[in-house]
Amino acid sequence: MVKRSKDCRPDTLLATGGRRAEWTGTPDHPGAVASPPVWRASTHLYPDMAAHREGPRHNQDGRFFYGRRGSPTQWALAEALTDLEPGAFGTVLYPSGLAAIVGALLAVVEPGDVLLVSDNAYEPSRATATGMLRRMGVDTRFFDPLDVDAYRAAFCERTRAVLLESPGSLTMEVCDTPALAAIAREHGAVSLVDNTWASALGFPALQHGCDIAIMALTKHVGGHSDLLMGSASAGEELYCKLRHTAQALGHVVSPDDASLALRGLRTMGLRLRQTTAAALEIANWLQSRDEVAHVLCPMLPGAPGHELWTRDFSGGCGLFSFVLKGRDADARARLIDGLQLFGIGYSWGGFESLAIPFDPAPIRTSTAWPPAGWNKEDRLGVRLSIGLEDPADLIADLEAAFAALDTET
Ligand SMILES: *Cc1c(COP(=O)(O)O)cnc(C)c1O
Repeated sequence: MVKRSKDCRPDTLLATGGRRAEWTGTPDHPGAVASPPVWRASTHLYPDMAAHREGPRHNQDGRFFYGRRGSPTQWALAEALTDLEPGAFGTVLYPSGLAAIVGALLAVVEPGDVLLVSDNAYEPSRATATGMLRRMGVDTRFFDPLDVDAYRAAFCERTRAVLLESPGSLTMEVCDTPALAAIAREHGAVSLVDNTWASALGFPALQHGCDIAIMALTKHVGGHSDLLMGSASAGEELYCKLRHTAQALGHVVSPDDASLALRGLRTMGLRLRQTTAAALEIANWLQSRDEVAHVLCPMLPGAPGHELWTRDFSGGCGLFSFVLKGRDADARARLIDGLQLFGIGYSWGGFESLAIPFDPAPIRTSTAWPPAGWNKEDRLGVRLSIGLEDPADLIADLEAAFAALDTET
């Protein structure tokens, strides 16, 4: 039987998380298997009426009640994630990353509240905030995450919550999350951070002053592009609110998916180190290309956000962007079509590399694209998710695709 403590280092936590003896064995042979098995269950059976009467009183992971409150497979995943997030009391699982963001927002905002959202937040988060939440009477306002003074000035009596994301989706700005979270706290607002990019391994969000740490487990935890899931971790009071709201919404994840997420979690540290190193190598190479105006990769020395990234983050990942020098959308399409080893598709954090074009201007309301100081012609973006292929092959693939960039057919 594996014995562990929460004081172990992250790689050890990844390898041992959720493997409670009672979730991986029988009373005769506790901890009999290494991975928590898939407990498929809607009905949970009670040994007798006394146990049945007790059931509803203990609404917590680890207590059998009914499948919608999870079974040992889901509890094991939630516990492993909680242990990874210093300062967390518990973790709620959601059927997708977006469900985690929306579920967490619904746990903290009410009609009449003001919600502040980082202007570079994941686009579907923005859409929910300006769509469903606005219809519910929540007043959503966007802010420039790099302008701390304007952000501070945006608070009012009714500001209840702040949604942060750093690095921002697509454009990868790193904001001063500890400062923004502290300002939210001064104003009695809850700070939620979409921490999908760095994960708890690269950015311990609660330790940096955020109240709710959200991840799309679809990305690094799943790691194999075959799973959708999300999580939100928090201290005791907010965790209870998250749990209550998720139960009210009927949010539940399947044990099969939880088992896949647990499998992904075991190798996440290894994969992140590998893809971080490969992404840096490729970002560095892109920086030397004449066709590239900007490499938006905060892990890269000299790139925007690198100083804050170095101060606050202990790890990165394989996701970054670059912006073409001039060129039109057709040229960019030729470049992406010319790639053989990169798939064209959404999501990221999988074992395989992906490329996607992006044009943030129409979806931003408080920040400019291209940013002030850039040549106006340089605005067509490409986002790369670097997988586990050999980076030398990926660079050769990019090099061949760049050759197609300016050759109209
Ligand atoms: C992908 C993504 C999400 C949403 O995750 P899904 O599981 O696809 O719903 C949320 N935030 C960020 C930053 C993402 O990249």
